[in-house]
Amino acid sequence: HIGPLSSDEPGISFGPGVVLFFRDLTSARRLEAMRADFVANASHELRTPLASLLGFIETLQGPARDDPKARERFLDIMRGQAQRMKRLIDDLLSLSRIEMRAHVAPTGIVDLRTIASQMVETLSPLARERGVAIHSRLPDHAVPVLGDRDELLRVLENLIENAAKYGESGGRVDVELAHLAGSDREAQPRVMLSVQDYGPGIAPEHLPRLTERFYRVDVAQSRDKGGTGLGLAIVKHIVNRHRGHLDISSEPGQGARFSVILPEAQGHD
Ligand code: ADP
Repeated sequence: HIGPLSSDEPGISFGPGVVLFFRDLTSARRLEAMRADFVANASHELRTPLASLLGFIETLQGPARDDPKARERFLDIMRGQAQRMKRLIDDLLSLSRIEMRAHVAPTGIVDLRTIASQMVETLSPLARERGVAIHSRLPDHAVPVLGDRDELLRVLENLIENAAKYGESGGRVDVELAHLAGSDREAQPRVMLSVQDYGPGIAPEHLPRLTERFYRVDVAQSRDKGGTGLGLAIVKHIVNRHRGHLDISSEPGQGARFSVILPEAQGHD
């Protein structure tokens, strides 16, 4: 007989004693492989600065023991490595907190215009130090969405920081918030928050992979700039939790544009 053999396991019985059960092993295996990969990547990322710290400690206890100049220099490098480990652990914790809430949509009303103007004000001085001016184009009224204020601030922080870091040579970053014109009258109104830079941009083959954990176009460059490779993965998880969509486009040589599209909360101002 062919058919369900128990309430939760579909299968086929070929007479007494012989039963085949089917389960979606491919997707279970893929998930397991992704998890193992993630743990291997995270361990490797932590191991590198840790190995360097241990090396410097040994040097300080040995050959450099009585060399005050070398001590100062090594301690500076060690502080940098420890800060890198801390950034990585903070990002890993953020990602896991957001993942734990993945299936719970946020219910608070948040004004995206306030979020955008706050973050632009916070990051402008740092960007200016890099020679980057942040320009914003925001509506003159509130733009309410159902969201988590801290998470949405984080999204914008990561996107503007990336634009200032990688698009530094462009000298300018544009932050724009606008209503999206819907073609369908029934469709829920949506808003778009975008961050555009005018740096070197990103080659098309990298675009689909940018939000993967630890994916970087240039690992050495990302490390130099203090990156952990988790920023865009965090952005994507937050946007997904907000029932939104992240759109990335780039003309190599002309810059990159990261747009977050969210459903607008209705009946609130
Ligand atoms: P990271 O910590 O390395 O910045 P992210 O997840 O934020 O990690 O970004 C992943 C990679 O995407 C970066 O290492 C960089 O190669 C690329 N990237 C992100 N934003 C930009 C941008 N505005 N211009 C060019 N490349 C970018």
